[in-house]
Amino acid sequence: MSDSGTLIIGNCQAGVQLASTLRELGDTNPIVLVGEEPHAPYQRPPLSKAFLKGEATADSLTFRTHEFYRDHDIELVPRERIVSLTRTAAGGVAVAESGREFPFARLALTTGAVPRQIPFEGSELEGVSYLRTATDAAVLEQKLRAAENVVVVGGGFIGLEVAAGARASGKTVTVLEAAPRLVGRAVSEQTSAFYLQAHRRRGTTVILEARVVRFTGEHDRVTGVQLADGAVIPADVVLIGVGVVPRTELAEQLGLAVDNGITVDARALTSDGVTVAAGDCANLPNPSVTPGGIDRVRLESVQNAVEQAKVAAATLLGRGADYQTVPWFWSDQADLKLQIAGLSGGHDEVVLRGDPDSEKFSVLYYRAGELIAADCVNRPLDFIAVRGALHHGQTVPPAVAGDTSVALKKLVSPAPALAQKVLTT
Ligand SMILES: Cc1cc2nc3c(=O)[nH]c(=O)nc-3n(C[C@H](O)[C@H](O)[C@H](O)COP(=O)(O)OP(=O)(O)OC[C@H]3O[C@@H](n4cnc5c(N)ncnc54)[C@H](O)[C@@H]3O)c2cc1C
Repeated sequence: MSDSGTLIIGNCQAGVQLASTLRELGDTNPIVLVGEEPHAPYQRPPLSKAFLKGEATADSLTFRTHEFYRDHDIELVPRERIVSLTRTAAGGVAVAESGREFPFARLALTTGAVPRQIPFEGSELEGVSYLRTATDAAVLEQKLRAAENVVVVGGGFIGLEVAAGARASGKTVTVLEAAPRLVGRAVSEQTSAFYLQAHRRRGTTVILEARVVRFTGEHDRVTGVQLADGAVIPADVVLIGVGVVPRTELAEQLGLAVDNGITVDARALTSDGVTVAAGDCANLPNPSVTPGGIDRVRLESVQNAVEQAKVAAATLLGRGADYQTVPWFWSDQADLKLQIAGLSGGHDEVVLRGDPDSEKFSVLYYRAGELIAADCVNRPLDFIAVRGALHHGQTVPPAVAGDTSVALKKLVSPAPALAQKVLTT
């Protein structure tokens, strides 16, 4: 690679978008997109959904064709793990484990995250799994096919998606969650309570406040999960889904500020003022902060990876504009489609719209009377209305938000304080 170009480390959602936006913005300098995985860049969300049902392969999940990279003159380099980074006056050089060197003028870190490991006795047993990559998913899919008893440790989105899929294919499934409720970091108590009931209705056993102490096994294969009360839940497969850890090791080598992710500003610029970072690895100013709300966030979603990468590309070209989009996310669990618009952290009021027992409802979150987010279960029109309202700095008055006889989009009205904030930023 010529040292006049951009090196993007991490070739998934954020990395590919960053490269593609550089070209869209007219950058004609060399772009190298390097990643350690063997596959062409692919979408991760289906790994816990269609892939495990045998409805997708790593190839079918790729989001760009080889022709795209060729036509946009983006050099895609798989199977190279960058292990060292050095800055020079002209840019710097990255060195891969193989010894290959990648000199660069500009640098982007889109290194993502890895599953948080739990060091229980028996973690090394065959059948104990994590899920992040297409390789992980292929192994898990094989194991699930032969399994009767599946235990999921962690009641977050990925764990619940895998649990729902395994249950739908007739397995005996147990979800063990250490907290008092499911998906506690991301949704309200109402939404958590709904998912608890919904999974139980479908025949999954969910144990809250479960304290796993070790994995039991025979002949190197997992046979169960032992809890602190002595109970052993039989298991042929254990999926551990207890969150992720951002990959910050390269940023740390460069001496960049790191705090639950690589610290970036609203333009995706890191603390050295020249390197950009985007996606799951980055910790950014909350794009939808309201007065007194949470200042900084690390978002784990495709939408964030894509939108932040666009901002990072513009910043590299000296045309930065602040990241301002409304975060959104989805999770498919059995026939339940959850769509989340905005960030509910720091809310002080919730309004329930619809009946959770009907498996079609939304929870709207407010802070100081202003709409800040919504969880919408099988109510896509509510999601679209809330996302649009937040985007335009509008609200839905909490007093009327629960009235399902009126379409939510008809209840949207200006939010003076938010509108003011948008105008002044
Ligand atoms: C099973 C699963 C289901 C999901 N479901 C959803 C969903 O329903 N909705 C949603 O919005 N999001 C979902 N997500 C999250 C979403 O996939 C991530 O937010 C998104 O992939 C983040 O993209 P990224 O490019 O920031 O990071 P990543 O996708 O993690 O990509 C980073 C890449 O960088 C590579 N890399 C890191 N360090 C190095 C290095 N030193 N050298 C070379 N390469 C390196 C990694 O190997 C990786 O390929 C899901 C994730 C998983 C795993």
